Amino acid sequence: MIGDLNVKSAACSNEQALYPLHYPPIAADALVQSTCAYCGVGCGVDISVTEGQATSLEGSPEHPANFGRLCVKGTHLLDTVDVTNRLLAPEVAGQQVSWQTAIAQVADKFSETIEKYGKDAVAFYVSGQLLTEDYYVANKLMKGYIGSANIDTNSRLCMSSAVSAYKRAFGEDVVPCDYQDLEQTDLMVLIGSNAAWTHPVLFQRMQRAKQINPACKLVVVDPRRTATAESADLHLAITPGSDAALYNGLLNYLAERSALDHDYIAAHTQGFEETIAQASAWGLTQVSEFCGVTKAELLSFYQYFEQANKAISMYSMGINQSTSGVDKCHAIINVHLATGKIAKAGAGPFSITGQPNAMGGREVGGLANQLAAHMDIENPAHRDLVQTFWQSPHMPTKQGAKAVDMIEQMLTGKIKAVWVMGTNPLVSLPDHNQVAKAFEQCDFVVVSDCVTDNDTLAYADVKLPATPWLEKNGTVTNSERRISRQRSAVKPTGEAKHDWDIMSLVAQKMGFSGFAYQHPYQVFTEFAALSGYQNAGASKRVFDMSGLAPLSLTEYEQLQPVQWPIPMASSRPSQAAGASQIAIVSQIAITSQNKSTRVFANGEYATANGKANFFPVTPKLPEQKASKAFPLVLNSGRFRDQWHTMTRTGVAPALTQHLAKPFLSVNPVDASKYGLSDHQIAKVSSAKGELYVPVQVSDAVAVGECFMPIHWNQEFCGSATVSSLYDAAVDPISGQPELKHTGIAITAAKFEQYIDCYVSQALAEDIESQSGKRLVKSIAQHSAYWLKTKQPNSWHYQLATKTDQALTMARCQQLFPCQGEWLSFTDNDSQLSHIVCLKNGAVMFAAYFATAFTAASAESDFGNAKKWVDDLFAEESLSFTQVQALLSKTAPAAADESRKVCSCFNVTENSIREAVQAGADSVTALGKKLKCGTNCGSCKPELQTIINTCQSQLIDIKEVASA
Ligand code: SF4
Repeated sequence: MIGDLNVKSAACSNEQALYPLHYPPIAADALVQSTCAYCGVGCGVDISVTEGQATSLEGSPEHPANFGRLCVKGTHLLDTVDVTNRLLAPEVAGQQVSWQTAIAQVADKFSETIEKYGKDAVAFYVSGQLLTEDYYVANKLMKGYIGSANIDTNSRLCMSSAVSAYKRAFGEDVVPCDYQDLEQTDLMVLIGSNAAWTHPVLFQRMQRAKQINPACKLVVVDPRRTATAESADLHLAITPGSDAALYNGLLNYLAERSALDHDYIAAHTQGFEETIAQASAWGLTQVSEFCGVTKAELLSFYQYFEQANKAISMYSMGINQSTSGVDKCHAIINVHLATGKIAKAGAGPFSITGQPNAMGGREVGGLANQLAAHMDIENPAHRDLVQTFWQSPHMPTKQGAKAVDMIEQMLTGKIKAVWVMGTNPLVSLPDHNQVAKAFEQCDFVVVSDCVTDNDTLAYADVKLPATPWLEKNGTVTNSERRISRQRSAVKPTGEAKHDWDIMSLVAQKMGFSGFAYQHPYQVFTEFAALSGYQNAGASKRVFDMSGLAPLSLTEYEQLQPVQWPIPMASSRPSQAAGASQIAIVSQIAITSQNKSTRVFANGEYATANGKANFFPVTPKLPEQKASKAFPLVLNSGRFRDQWHTMTRTGVAPALTQHLAKPFLSVNPVDASKYGLSDHQIAKVSSAKGELYVPVQVSDAVAVGECFMPIHWNQEFCGSATVSSLYDAAVDPISGQPELKHTGIAITAAKFEQYIDCYVSQALAEDIESQSGKRLVKSIAQHSAYWLKTKQPNSWHYQLATKTDQALTMARCQQLFPCQGEWLSFTDNDSQLSHIVCLKNGAVMFAAYFATAFTAASAESDFGNAKKWVDDLFAEESLSFTQVQALLSKTAPAAADESRKVCSCFNVTENSIREAVQAGADSVTALGKKLKCGTNCGSCKPELQTIINTCQSQLIDIKEVASA
C-alpha cells in the first residue's frame, strides 16, 4: 500500500494464475478492437482474426476518434505486416543468442558503464510508437532506478515546442481542445499542418464540419499550396517561419478593434500588458512585409477571426520544428487567451500530435525534462512524490540530455551506452553525418526493433526483437487526450517480446526491484495510481487517471476509449469490484463520446495562482538561412501514403503507388534557372551535406522555396535522407530541431547510365539468403543513386551510375545471380539496351538502360510502364509474344501508367481526368463513376484539385478556340 492507493505493481494478484506467461493465449478466431499504429488522430480499428491470423480490418464504428473511418494508411495496415524482414531472435555482435544471454549482455554492460563512468554515461532514446506501458517502464528504469534523466523520445522532433508552451502558459502540458470542437466552431485555422495528408480522418471531420455549418471557415497558413490549402476558404502562403508575426499582428488588430475579452483577461490571465505592448508593433504593414502576404489577405484572416464567436487554431510540425517554435505556440495561445476563445466548445489552441502515442509519452514523462504523470524534475516536492511512490533508490535532480544533446554527448564520449527503442534516429535526427559518427563512436549500442535492418540497426551491438503493432498489447493516448487500447491480435512472431517486458527483464538483471510485471495491466494501473497520488494542494495536477487505477485485468482488457482527466472521485464513486467496475468504465467511455471532458472550463489554470500566462513574443526568422552559396530554402514534410521511415508503409504495394519516389519540389522559375526538368535527378547540397533526388517541377512551392519528403532512407533510397541537409539548430526552450528550414543549392546531376530494373521477390530473397547480405547493400556499391520500390509482384529499382559503375550484362549477372536464361536486346532507334532473365518461363529480372537523361527517357524508360512490367512478374510462364514484348519493352498502347490517386480502388490520374472531361464535375460525381474517394476519402482533396485543373484547362482551350 502506497499512500492512499493500492498499487498493483510487482505483487501480482491471483489473476496472474490465469496468465502464467507474459503472453496470454490469443483466441484463434476473434474480433479484436485496437488502435491504428500511425498518427495522433488515434483511430479505432476492428481486426478480424481467423485461425490465429489477422484476416481483415475496418474502422471501429463506435470509436470516438474516427466513428468507423480510416485513411488510406489505416485501411492498409494489414498489408504492412511483413515477416520477411522481421528480427526474430536477439543478436549480439551479429550472432543469434538466447534472450538470457542478450538480457545479461545489456544489463551487464549498462551496469559496468554506470559503475565506471557514472549514471549519466548511459541513455535511452525511445519513441512515440511505444505504448504507454512501455514508455512508463523505460522512464521508471532510467529516472527512478538508474538515476539519470537521460531518456528522450523522437516526439522531441514533432511536438516538444507545443509541450513547452502549454506548460508555460497553462502551468501544465494540457491540450485544452478535442475533436468535437470541430463541429462546434465558426473558424478553423490550420497553421503549419498539411492535415489532409498527415491527419486525414481529422481533416475529413473538418470538411464535414464545414458541410454541416457552411458559415464555418477554414484558413490554412502554409508556405506551400498543399492538398489542405487547396480545400481552404483562405490560404495564406506566408514566408517560411514567419507565423509568430501573423499571430502577433492578429492580436494587435483585435486590440485595435476592441475585440479582446478584457473580462477574461482580467479574471483568468496574467502578463497581458507586456504582451500587448510587444504585439502593438505589428501593424498590417509590418506583418505584410514580414510574412510576405498582402494586407488584403491579412485583413480577410483577421476579420474572420474577429467575427467568429468560436475559433480553433490547429498546429503541428510546421510550427513546432523551429528554433523559435515555443514562441510561435505562445503567439497562438496569446490570441486565444486574449479573446477568451479557449476552454470552451469550439475554441482553443490545439496542438495535433504526429505519432500514435506522442501524448502517452508526455504523460509518463518520456522527455528528458519531465517526470512521470506531469511532474517536474526540478520541483523537489514532485521528485519526492514520485520517488516515494516508486520506492526507488534514485531520482535525478536535473534535466537529462534531449535528443540533439544526446548525440553531442555521444560524440564527446560523455554518453557511452545508448539503448534505442522503436525509432530510427539515423534518419530522423538532423545533421545525419554527425549522428552516424556518434553511433559509430558510442561504445555500446542496443536497438530494440521489429526489423532486421534499418539505418540505426546497422550500428547495433545488440539487436533485441520487439513486438510491433498487431502483436503489442497496451494503451495509447491520442491528440485529444483519449486513451485507447492497442490490443494483441496475433501472437508474437519468432522470439519477439514486448518492450515493457524486455526492459523489465534488464532492470531485474541489473538488480532492481519493482519490475516484476507479468502483464501490461499491472504497469497501467500502477501508472494510473501514480497520476492520482497526492494529487492535491500544491501538487495538484490536471493529468489524473486514478479512476482507472483499480481496474482488474479483465476490466483492462475490456477498457473502452476514454478521455482524461479521470479522477478517482468523479469516475468511480465506489471501488466496488467486479462487473460494477466495468459498468463504470463503460460509462466513462460512453460519456466521452457524447460530451467533452472539458479542461480549464472554469478559467482556473494549473499555475500556482490559477491564472494562465501570456508571453510577449518577438518574431524571429529561422536560424538556418538561405545564403549566396545556398540560395534556396528547403522545407520538409510527409506524403499521404507513407509513414516515418517507411519500415511499415514501404513494404505495402498499395501505399507505394500514389507517390512512388522521393522528390524535390521546385518552382518552375527555379527549375528553369538551374536547368532542371521533371523527374531529372538533382544534386542538392547544404552547409551540412548533399544528396541526389528527382525533381518535381511545381508551382505549389514559391519561387526560392523547395520541399522534400522525410520518409526515404538508406533502406529505400541511396541518397534521399533529408535530415542530412539540416543542421542541429534547436529551440532554446524545447530543444526541438529546426527541420523545416535550411539553405540549399541545386544542380542537375550527371550520370553515365540510368537503369530501370525489376527483380522478382523470389530472386531477391534467394540472393539475400545466399549472400547473407541485403540486396540494397550490393546495389548501393554499384550506383551513385538508387531507389527501391515495392510493387505488387516485384521489387522495382531505379539506378543511376557514374562512369566506373556502368552496368553490363556481366555485372548484372554478378549483382543479380540467377541460374536462368539471360536475354538481351538493343533498340536500334534509341540505342537503349534491355536485359531480361527467365527461369522456367517466368521472368526473374528485367533491366532497361538509358545513357543520358532526357525528359523522354524519364517518361519512357526511367520508370514508366512499371505496372505492365510488374504484371508480367505475376505470370507463371510467359508466352513467346510476352517475352518479345518484355524484352523490347513494348507495352500495349492502352496501358494506363499514370499515378494512382485513389489507393483503395486503384484509380489513376488519367482515368480521373477522362471522367472529368466526360462531365464528372464534383468529387461526389467522380465517386459515383469510378468509386474513387468513397472508401477512406484520403484522396478527396486531390480529386478536387484535378477537377479544378482539368476545368481550367478546358476553359483555356475554349478561350483559345473562340479567339
Ligand atoms: Fe491511422 Fe489514418 Fe486514423 Fe491517422 S488518420 S490514426 S493514420 S487511420
